[in-house]
Amino acid sequence: MPPDVDEASPQARIERLRAELERHNHAYYVLDAPTVPDAEYDRLFLALQQLEAAHPEHASPDSPTRRVGGAVASGFGQVRHALPMLSLQNAFTDDDVRGFDRRVREAAAAAELDAAALRYCAELKFDGLAISLRYEDGRFVQGATRGDGAVGEDVTANLRTVRAIPLRLDGPAPRRLEVRGEVLMFRRDFERMNDAQRVRGDKPFVNPRNAAAGSLRQLDPALTAQRPLRFFAYGLGEVSDDVAVPGSHAALLDWFGALGLPVGQHRCTVPDVEGLLAFYRDIGARRATLPYDIDGVVYKVDQRDWHEAIGFVARAPRFALAHKFPAEEALTELLDIDVQVGRTGVLTPVARLRPVFVGGVTVTNATLHNEDELARKDLMIGDTVIVRRAGDVIPEVVRSVPEARPADARRFLMPAHCPVCGSAAMREEGEVAWRCVGGLYCKAQRKQALLHFAQRRAMDIDGLGEKIVEQLVERDLVQTPADLYRLDAAVLSGLDRMGDRSAANLAAAIAASREVALERFVFALGIRHVGEEVARILAAEFGGLDETLDADWAGLIEAKAAAQKHNARARPKGEPLLPVPLEGVGPEIMRAIQAFAAEPHNREVIAGLRAAGVEPTRPARRSNVGAASEGGGTGHVSAPSPDGVLSGRIIVVTGTLPGMARDEAEALIRKHGGSATGSVSKRTSFVLAGENPGSKIAKATELGIPVMDLEQFLRMIGRDGQENS
Ligand code: NAD
Repeated sequence: MPPDVDEASPQARIERLRAELERHNHAYYVLDAPTVPDAEYDRLFLALQQLEAAHPEHASPDSPTRRVGGAVASGFGQVRHALPMLSLQNAFTDDDVRGFDRRVREAAAAAELDAAALRYCAELKFDGLAISLRYEDGRFVQGATRGDGAVGEDVTANLRTVRAIPLRLDGPAPRRLEVRGEVLMFRRDFERMNDAQRVRGDKPFVNPRNAAAGSLRQLDPALTAQRPLRFFAYGLGEVSDDVAVPGSHAALLDWFGALGLPVGQHRCTVPDVEGLLAFYRDIGARRATLPYDIDGVVYKVDQRDWHEAIGFVARAPRFALAHKFPAEEALTELLDIDVQVGRTGVLTPVARLRPVFVGGVTVTNATLHNEDELARKDLMIGDTVIVRRAGDVIPEVVRSVPEARPADARRFLMPAHCPVCGSAAMREEGEVAWRCVGGLYCKAQRKQALLHFAQRRAMDIDGLGEKIVEQLVERDLVQTPADLYRLDAAVLSGLDRMGDRSAANLAAAIAASREVALERFVFALGIRHVGEEVARILAAEFGGLDETLDADWAGLIEAKAAAQKHNARARPKGEPLLPVPLEGVGPEIMRAIQAFAAEPHNREVIAGLRAAGVEPTRPARRSNVGAASEGGGTGHVSAPSPDGVLSGRIIVVTGTLPGMARDEAEALIRKHGGSATGSVSKRTSFVLAGENPGSKIAKATELGIPVMDLEQFLRMIGRDGQENS
């Protein structure tokens, strides 16, 4: 939180900042669990530095501005560093870099060095944690964290498990060599590891840096061994004098490389500030494409034998500088949560934020994706939140800062009604999204709904394409599909890029669509999950629109579930299978139809269409499933084959199958004697998985249940996928 620095005395302000920074140091260095973004820490640190400079009478050797890192955690042995492991001075602006260059040149000149010959080596500032590796006669013997700079934690056993760290150096190595570098985690590895954490129900790590630090500082090296840690060398500690060490920093890194130590590939040597700034900008532009996080670049005087003479400031060398990139994370306040309705009716919560500058832009809102995401991030309105914007990626709210939660913070609940049209909103089982069910009526979905309505396979209104629909909706000429039938050629010819002839043709196409087959009309309504095939089944089963919408959907859902349950359990030989009502129409679809039918707005639109003269024609054959369901569900169904290849098998379908609706797949399963269920359990025979399968795969893997794709499945039931069920 911004410290309230205005009202207290300088000393009190200094004390307060020191205490706050100490708290953050502990969380960051000892617990590997920072509570604020680095930029916030840096801001407080700078404020303290400035106050201490203005009030030298309050200087203290204990101040966080004078010390490196944090305390050594108990549980590890201690390692006293032969040479202190320091921090780096930070720069945030070009002027800071110019100031650094000036001070370096002055110090060089004061030491009677030829400042004109000065070169800098510029490299990446890896965002991990600093370690020291000790080699004796080329063998790795000891590894330590930086700790407080003087004493670090002995993490030798853990570092031995990091594959990027050679246990033996290549070529002639000095008798004693101490290499310094950074342990980190690649972003891709981090994400994979976090996915696994979530599947196991463990808390995911906040970012790759904390994951790397937390992984390295495990008391059990077996745990470290499971973590995908990497290493880059960037500096020299103590070294024996039996081997000549290169005199420039750039050559030192090459030497490390030749010894088999990983070094960063992005580096260059430049003579002046302009060269440094060019490197900074070049790397800044490529930052998001690197496989690991960096938080800036580092400049070091290339002549290593000048370092001693240029000297040190309190906790960092004067010959090196960390030039930081604009923060990718910042703190701000979650002012409110709005709900946006997408073209397909999905309700998306969106965070309204107090404007905050992060990742180079001012961010005022960020999608919160869905209800589960909100819960996972534990967000309440009024919270202080961490906002992240990395590269060109859209800004995201990472999480809240619970310590800063005000007493009047409010929980947010997804609305029960669409904020655009007031129709009911529903969330289906197994889905994360809430959706508005007012498909035909909802303004947010209007264009999409009209295009769907008019398409060739639905009402087949030739000429009613995207550009025309766009204008009709924008000019408020059409609110619902019923309004289409009020448009005449004169109105249509007033639209952009619409000649008299096209207008007349379109008007004729609209008029002609009044006569439509029932299944096309049912499909045209845009009921969620109701594709052409399901519309065909519904038309055949119910025979009329009213019969379809007014069917006892609750009863049908129940009857279907009961029949499926009965058929799925082990039955005595000879006991017949119960007929399953509405074969090919799963419970998800049935619930969607039920919700659509229950929404008065949808009924109004249908009434409007009828009033406009649209009357679907009934198919020749009909049965009476709706009525039959009341008596126990003996409708027109094809009985599953008790001795099919899938007989007795319990199968779960998950993800998007290529070219096949889930219900179609489930119908095939039943047709071949199997039963399809919604959740994976020990009794599941196998999982049929398509794209984006979600958590069911993880569950199946955990239980050792086979997973197959559509191709394998079709082969198993002896189909090549051409035929339709
Ligand atoms: P630093 O991270 O600013 O710079 C020094 C470190 O840079 C070195 O110790 C080394 O680990 C690393 N480094 C990476 N690449 C390097 C290279 N090529 N050459 C040399 N060193 C390289 O300083 P610090 O003292 O480690 O940490 C301070 C920073 O840590 C703060 O600026 C802040 O961003 C962060 N921090 C955050 C919190 C928090 O609560 N969020 C708390 C404490 C510290």
